[in-house]
Amino acid sequence: MNTITTDNRPLRLVIHGGAGAVRRDRLKPAREHAFMQVLTQSLRAGHAVLAAGGSSIDAVIAAIVIMEDSPVFNAGKGAVFSHEGYNELDASIMDGAARLAGAVAAVTTVRNPIRAAHAVMTHSQHVLLIGRGAENFAAEQALEIVEPSFFYTRRRWDQLQKAIANERITLDHDLDSDSPVENNEKHGTVGAVALDCRGNLAAGTSTGGLTNKRFGRVGDTPVIGAGTYADNQSVAVSATGTGEMFLRTAAGFNTAAQVKLQNKRICEAADHTLAEIAAIGGEGGLIVLNTQGDYAMRFNTSGMFRGVIGCDGIARVGVFSGDESLAVY
Ligand code: ASP
Repeated sequence: MNTITTDNRPLRLVIHGGAGAVRRDRLKPAREHAFMQVLTQSLRAGHAVLAAGGSSIDAVIAAIVIMEDSPVFNAGKGAVFSHEGYNELDASIMDGAARLAGAVAAVTTVRNPIRAAHAVMTHSQHVLLIGRGAENFAAEQALEIVEPSFFYTRRRWDQLQKAIANERITLDHDLDSDSPVENNEKHGTVGAVALDCRGNLAAGTSTGGLTNKRFGRVGDTPVIGAGTYADNQSVAVSATGTGEMFLRTAAGFNTAAQVKLQNKRICEAADHTLAEIAAIGGEGGLIVLNTQGDYAMRFNTSGMFRGVIGCDGIARVGVFSGDESLAVY
């Protein structure tokens, strides 16, 4: 195993697996453990890339692919269903060094949408591809294509039936499938921000969006500057929450601009963005990372699945408030 390449340059990877009304008394230990295990695996996968001298972009992809492949998160396998009963997936990625970006929206056949977003960034002249076109492009790029039914999970299907019965368009994190959907505000989505040994930042985000979403709805996740943003001159950001409000506040760029133009500390910038989101009725969380390796994991919900790993290679994960709640699993 390669060692960390610099003594002075911090390596850092911060991830989230969605924010929401996660209640301690309702999060069953086995379920919490499943979440924490996947978060830990994700951090280790991304850290292995960074520790071997790989790029922040590759670390972000490695971390997100683990969460997309796990049915516990609302991204890739395990994504929520649209009203019509499809899993329509969105993802985006951004390279903070050159401010290159790629994204896909409403894809139904691409196993790992974050890889498709990366292919858009590296092998097309575009930033955002949608639907059938994005799927054809992913196939041309030899990415793994699956049947739409690959994304089916019983738990998500049942959530859709509840949401339809309640006439609700809901966010994810139905941690307690016995509870009525309308009593829990839920968010899903996975994201990662990374800093590599060359001092380059990257960010990525991937989601199934909202349960019971309609009419080709797309949220903030595949929109550069809203769900994802990275610029070496400021910060890398990945968001989760009520996408419409994150779009309306340009959450990712907004946070970066406060750091760059107003010299705000990253926590302060993230909190300010979340306050703007709350002021228009939204909620969720942001992970933010700068080129010094300083990071923030902020949310205005009761919990956000999240984790961090640095030079020591120790993965720390948690869900409830307070960084002291992060633990090693
Ligand atoms: N932001 C995502 C969306 O609106 C959902 C989430 O983060 O849970 O599509």
